[in-house]
Amino acid sequence: MDARTAPLLWMPRVPAAPAPTDGALHDRRQRPWRDLRISLTDRCNFRCGYCMPRSRFGPGHRFLPQAQLLSFEEITQVARQALALGVRTLRLTGGEPLLRRDLTRLIRQLAALRTPDGRPPDLALTSNGSLLAGQAEALREAGLARLTVSLDALDDAVFRRMNDVGFPVAEVLRGLDAAQRAGFERIKVNMVVRRGVNDGEALALAGHFRANYGGAMVLRFIEFMDAGCHNGWKMDEVLPSDELRARIAARWPLQPLPATRGGETAQRWRYADGAGEIGFISSVSHAFCGDCTRARLTADGRLYTCLFATQGHDLRPLLRGAQGGEAELRARLAAIWADRADAYSEQREALRPLRPERADMHVLGG
Ligand code: SAM
Ligand code: SF4
Ligand code: SF4
Repeated sequence: MDARTAPLLWMPRVPAAPAPTDGALHDRRQRPWRDLRISLTDRCNFRCGYCMPRSRFGPGHRFLPQAQLLSFEEITQVARQALALGVRTLRLTGGEPLLRRDLTRLIRQLAALRTPDGRPPDLALTSNGSLLAGQAEALREAGLARLTVSLDALDDAVFRRMNDVGFPVAEVLRGLDAAQRAGFERIKVNMVVRRGVNDGEALALAGHFRANYGGAMVLRFIEFMDAGCHNGWKMDEVLPSDELRARIAARWPLQPLPATRGGETAQRWRYADGAGEIGFISSVSHAFCGDCTRARLTADGRLYTCLFATQGHDLRPLLRGAQGGEAELRARLAAIWADRADAYSEQREALRPLRPERADMHVLGG
């Protein structure tokens, strides 16, 4: 079945959007397309239970063969057309993006692209930080502007349990130091919080980033999401952001901050004593689909318009020359976004019982 025309199980039909007035392409819910997340690989050297549980992604799991991965030139083609359609942020992710060989070459290519008004893209990358110490400087030199590092605990034993490969937390902290030395500013640090698993680490992490780095790193707490079909998600393990924020504010009073831009996923707060900023990404307790400006490109060239979509739109026939060139690619991207109506998190209670097969987080890139 052609993914473009396939009915998505839960998609209500909403009227087409009016013509855009801000240089962006709008979907059926009038949301502009501003962000493209690009997964560079479905492989990872961690086995975080909420993303790639070892029971499912063990030694026998078959990852994408090299030939199916988009080449850097193909990725750059999609990025170029996305920018032409109003996208501003390109975020590299995975799997673990730092596992992709020769990554700095791709970063150079993407950093050289321009938006229609002549600006460089806002080029960001999300990593588990395990290989960052050795790569931070080269990434920065190649033109990477922003960095997000995932870190689920400060305690070494808890961290090793979270990544489930016995990886030491000290090496990720070394990576963060290297990133700061390399000139990355306002590095974001993401902690996925699971009640009863690692929520006891939230205060320790907050204390660590308050005390070190001069407030230059922004810790964000992410609610455990029911992404994919294999992470054993239970509502009981979701610690709602309001509850976590109350715990933190009881120790260090907090004040709300305004969003820095439309489509921002995190609610921002500052420590009242001036020790920096933290964020809460509350995709379960406070859905933010109304502001969702993101599409996701998988490592094998499928475009997903929602983290919870059942299927993507295969771009490879267009990219590999069988069906046309860049103009066709741009038209296809525009048609996909214009037809978008996804709002899974807002409709979770109604849709979850349907349990359709969904792509996993390490495929979509988070
Ligand atoms: N490997 C890189 C990393 O971990 O940062 C990039 C890919 S990872 C899929 C991107 C983000 O998704 C990470 O911050 C990760 O913590 C988050 N993530 C994965 N599974 C999740 C889940 N079930 N709920 C909430 N966040 C999740
Ligand atoms: Fe790997 Fe990132 Fe998924 Fe953890 S969250 S298994 S580091 S892709
Ligand atoms: Fe965006 Fe889908 Fe997440 Fe809603 S559920 S915020 S539409 S990715």
